[in-house]
Amino acid sequence: NPPLTNVQARDLDAILHPYTPLHTLPQTGATVIDHGKGVYVYDTQGNEYIEGMSGLWCAGLGFGNEEMVEAATQQMRSLPYYHLFGGMGIEPAIELAEKLKELAPVPISKVFFTSSGSEANDTQVKLAWYYNNARGKPEKKKIISRIKAYHGVTIMSASLTGLPYNHKGFDLPIDRVVHTECPHYYRFGQDGESEADFVTRLATSLRELIEREGPDTIAAMIAEPVMGAGGVIVPPKGYFEAIQPILDEYDIYLIDDEVINGFGRTGNWWGSETLGMTPKTISAAKQLTSAYAPLGAVMLPEDIYQAFVDHSRQIGTFGHGFTYGGHPLGCALGVKAIEIYQKLDILSHVRSLIPVFEARMKKIADHPIVGEARYCGLMGGVELVADKATKQPFDASVGIGPKAATLARQNGAIFRAIGDTLAVCPPMIITAEELNALFDRMEKALDDTEFLAKK
Ligand code: PLP
Repeated sequence: NPPLTNVQARDLDAILHPYTPLHTLPQTGATVIDHGKGVYVYDTQGNEYIEGMSGLWCAGLGFGNEEMVEAATQQMRSLPYYHLFGGMGIEPAIELAEKLKELAPVPISKVFFTSSGSEANDTQVKLAWYYNNARGKPEKKKIISRIKAYHGVTIMSASLTGLPYNHKGFDLPIDRVVHTECPHYYRFGQDGESEADFVTRLATSLRELIEREGPDTIAAMIAEPVMGAGGVIVPPKGYFEAIQPILDEYDIYLIDDEVINGFGRTGNWWGSETLGMTPKTISAAKQLTSAYAPLGAVMLPEDIYQAFVDHSRQIGTFGHGFTYGGHPLGCALGVKAIEIYQKLDILSHVRSLIPVFEARMKKIADHPIVGEARYCGLMGGVELVADKATKQPFDASVGIGPKAATLARQNGAIFRAIGDTLAVCPPMIITAEELNALFDRMEKALDDTEFLAKK
């Protein structure tokens, strides 16, 4: 490794990096990003990268969008801060909530704003508890989530998350959360089991879990349409259609975590539309503002809202809210992002790129160290394996995923290593030419990784 630059040394001295192997950081140093334009970002040493991950699955409009800058400036000038507590209001929040109600895939009555996806999912759980207290079912409090799900990092949302590194060392998950099977056929399908049989097995297993825990103790199930940070896992056809009737039967409602899938990523406004989910409530964040400011949202139907209103007659104030939930800057940028998505007809643009994405992923699936290249819309996961035929993973001590991501950076492309899966989720405004260049760089990185693995 080359010696650290001055800015890297300062970074190492001052920053506790999230999601980072802290023990190896001193050797590599951080890649300090300085600016961005379109789908490109540039580090402090002047290196250019195609941002193949939209930052953290969020910068759908890419970087340096002047209309967003203008909207932010105007909002900062007119009202940099106000809140929604105690019956106060701000117009950007009203406008954004109205837009979300219009776009929602199911009837939505109210929108509750947060600052992040984790806070949105944390709020979802509190709302489920409050709702069941309000409707006289105080025992119905557990939430079902799935192994490999990602729902955030607050104590509750990290508990919903089904990934070991979010639990290990933190004494999580807390009780009231139960995890069911992950719908990843490539990894969890059994020998000789068809996809349809796999779906049936998972549905049966969910029913057994509910029966074992007691249906009267379970409030809701939370699910991402396509699981993102667990490794871009696309459930098999018919998965949600198989599990939803079981949830309905036991009066367990479905919370749709659209934090990554929402706003066009899968080719529809919502991943739930692409994947056949009919949720009762929805969480959104990330592309909600195209990451130009932090914002999260929880969208809920009229019957839940009415139960809250009735409950507040008995117990008084609805006691939940964040200082920055519905921040004017976030809301103004949410309104502007949606306006730009609509002006660009981002859904048609994404749909026009899906065949390119698909063709490149199919080619990558043939690479000798790739076990599975899976995708939905403009998001994909490339799982690296030591043996293609047996699906044998690389020895964990090799850390092949992070090595591949580093080699990709050296080839001018940013992907995210999730274990040994390379995630790809470029800004939705990417052109076909840029997308092909991104995949050229991925292929080069895979060749370099294979060479390294053989050494
Ligand atoms: N839900 C999903 C599906 C996510 O992917 C994420 C973050 O990656 C979150 C929730 C948490 O969002 P945040 O990091 O904004 O708290």
